[in-house]
Amino acid sequence: MRGSGTGGGNMIRIYTISGYEEVGKNMTAVGYSDGKKEEIVIIDVGIRLDRVLIHEDVNIQEFPTKELQRLGAIPDDSIIRNKRVVAIALTHGHLDHIGAIGKIAPHYPDVPVYGTPYTIKLAKSEVKSEKYFDVKNPMYETEFGEIVQVSENLAIEFVRSTHSIPQAAMVVVHTPDGAVVHTGDFKFDNNNPLGERPDYKRLKELGKEGVKVLIPESTRVGEPTKTPSEAVAQMLLEDFFLYEGMEADGLIATTFASHIARLQELIWIANRMGRQAVFIGRSLAKYTGIAKQLGLIKMKGSRVLRSPTAIKKVLAEVSQARENYLLIVTGHQGEPGAVLTRMANGELYDIGKRDTVVFSAGTIPNPLNRAQRYILETKLRMKGVRMIKDMHVSGHASREDHRYLIRMLNPENIVPAHGEFQMLTQYAELAEEEGYLIGRDVFVSRNGYTVEIE
Ligand SMILES: [Zn+2]
Repeated sequence: MRGSGTGGGNMIRIYTISGYEEVGKNMTAVGYSDGKKEEIVIIDVGIRLDRVLIHEDVNIQEFPTKELQRLGAIPDDSIIRNKRVVAIALTHGHLDHIGAIGKIAPHYPDVPVYGTPYTIKLAKSEVKSEKYFDVKNPMYETEFGEIVQVSENLAIEFVRSTHSIPQAAMVVVHTPDGAVVHTGDFKFDNNNPLGERPDYKRLKELGKEGVKVLIPESTRVGEPTKTPSEAVAQMLLEDFFLYEGMEADGLIATTFASHIARLQELIWIANRMGRQAVFIGRSLAKYTGIAKQLGLIKMKGSRVLRSPTAIKKVLAEVSQARENYLLIVTGHQGEPGAVLTRMANGELYDIGKRDTVVFSAGTIPNPLNRAQRYILETKLRMKGVRMIKDMHVSGHASREDHRYLIRMLNPENIVPAHGEFQMLTQYAELAEEEGYLIGRDVFVSRNGYTVEIE
């Protein structure tokens, strides 16, 4: 595929390695060739969770690379394997963006990895438990606004955005011919309760300086709206917990372990209800632990249980005085082995008629999740558990957020990413509404292909 450009022998190549026909295992590489040599920056190295039937509490590091590739769970990076990679940049800490770091980074030994502090600390925790490789790549925590020269021709920059995990960034690769902007996952949240705001000022500046290529995520571009703020999710939760919830007996909330803003809201709510927030599960301990280190969450009024002994002991106490606790657990997608799934199976805790389960998460729309969630809900219903679903807002930009981004950046070319084929084409339709044309300056690519921009 070839795009428009200014000529002169220089070329930007967008290697659409993975995440271009699915939601998951995201990996893109940006190459810049000055006629003599090509230098490449990798952006994200994700894992596709539904291909390994795992949930947030399972260690991916225990799977060998070959097995993961056979399952289609991690990217096939063969199209850049023998090229000159100068940096790996991570947009944010979700596993579909960093989960394969321990498997892919060793293909590029000594190449430094960059990301914001929360992202890098999470990436380090992935690497630390890696069983098959000794990952030697240096990892650098990068601040928003810092511009890091990574080779003769290329520099990278992290621009603050907002998403369902702290310190999410858009990655800018500065080339002599203009910027390449990769959005990572984002929404435009102007009222996030933790105070994070997108850096519109910098985005508009980049638009003025000249954006050669925009690589946007496209997961929710089909929604003809603006994605609501996280403040809306907080209000949904308060609207239940702080009123009717005050008269409830057992209360159990389940959400994404990495959704620090949501977990903070649940702690605030528990404090206001006079209950203790109790986090149960290894992944909740991991994400909140690192967030706490960086001052991104205040855990006052809560406790975190990770060991099976502690979980067993505390849950025995909780079942004697349910009205004193708000349990926060993994398992919102019905993942096998997660805490809520085990409770529904009659393990850990005698969940039943006295309990209300609040799902502060949507169902991730793939057949496996739908099936597991259906089984979970059926089991809970059979036990007489009351369920309140969809107390959630998405972390992904909708169509009108994307339109705003296009207007701020005014990119010369667009390569939609992070989505099933249908999502990529929906993005291309939006781009056509904004004056672009498929094949001329909007390119719908597939896993393993390259878009060349002269
Ligand atoms: Zn994400």
